[in-house]
Amino acid sequence: MGRAQVIKARRWVVKVGSSLLTNDGAGLDRALMALWVEQIHRLRTRGIEVVLVSSGAVSEGMKRLGWQTRPHALHEQQAAAAVGQMGLVQAYESCFQQHGLHTAQILLTHDDLADRQRYLNARSTLRTLLKLGVIPIVNENDTVAVEEIRFGDNDTLAGLVTNLIEAELLVMLTDQVGMFDCDPRSNPGAQFIHEAQAGDPKLETMASGGSSGRLGRGGMLTKVRAAERAARSGAVSVIASGRESDVLLQIADGKQLGTMIVPTQEPLVARKQWLASQLKLRGKLVLDNGAVKVLHASGSSLLAVGVTAVEGNFRRGEVVACVDTQGHEVARGLVNYSADEARKIKGQPSENIEALLGYVDEAELINRDNLVLIAS
Ligand code: GLU
Repeated sequence: MGRAQVIKARRWVVKVGSSLLTNDGAGLDRALMALWVEQIHRLRTRGIEVVLVSSGAVSEGMKRLGWQTRPHALHEQQAAAAVGQMGLVQAYESCFQQHGLHTAQILLTHDDLADRQRYLNARSTLRTLLKLGVIPIVNENDTVAVEEIRFGDNDTLAGLVTNLIEAELLVMLTDQVGMFDCDPRSNPGAQFIHEAQAGDPKLETMASGGSSGRLGRGGMLTKVRAAERAARSGAVSVIASGRESDVLLQIADGKQLGTMIVPTQEPLVARKQWLASQLKLRGKLVLDNGAVKVLHASGSSLLAVGVTAVEGNFRRGEVVACVDTQGHEVARGLVNYSADEARKIKGQPSENIEALLGYVDEAELINRDNLVLIAS
């Protein structure tokens, strides 16, 4: 099931770690970067959308500042990240430009993704960039957050981004070939794990046996946890060596490479359940009979025109119930407009939104991907 899902995947998150990218501290390995960029370009020509999550800012900053060893103080690591981020995006931009591809810098924190409003904003921006054919390059915003500097080397962030954009595949490129059942350096009989199920309790124990590189913060454990997180929204993860030739293309072709961690559930079911688990109701939209029928029949987005009343006091990105005229809940989802805005645009066709509010975020009140139907 895993490989078939990998071959079918049309939206990928590719995460590149510090030790790999900076050749364990020797500055950005531009030759290696050029090879991945070339492959990402080829994936794009096959119709695959790619978001790149890249570390390496602290390490590149250290090199630019002439620091031989990683400073202990977090604020110095943050300063190095701020310096190095410039070099990181510059290097990616010039590599992608050679293939006629535009790049965009996205700096995120975990808190951004926990806040519903910022979550929706980040989601819309990333989806728009993908639609425009741009390659978003994501890193943690190390100036204001230190989670990845301390623990994760962006592994967790990559898992969160996978959920955020509902990517079908998360590829974590590292300087190791994948995962063994115990540390291969101290156990010559260590077995390589080709495929594992997310949620398998043995996974984390096996991953704890490995070690992280000198520069990167994350080891196998944070990668396994990122894969578990990605699986919650239905994505398969592959942990593979970024030095393997044509690694991304080989993965796209379904070759057995690295360690694959597959979700236990069918992706669509997993995605809807993940969305449902996020849900804490903040308000209600009362739908007319036409809108209820359309939602049930085609699972389409909810438009303002089908809403007759708005209850509660919610903000953009919060969860609302959609009820029929009798008050029965038919769906719930993440709403694109606040309660006040929804009151102004209810019953109106989408093309009136701009005139009514003075701006337009999305044409829909709730996008179909953010909507879970409640079985009647
Ligand atoms: N966001 C950090 C970076 O890009 C994480 C990696 C690290 O701490 O080395 O450098």
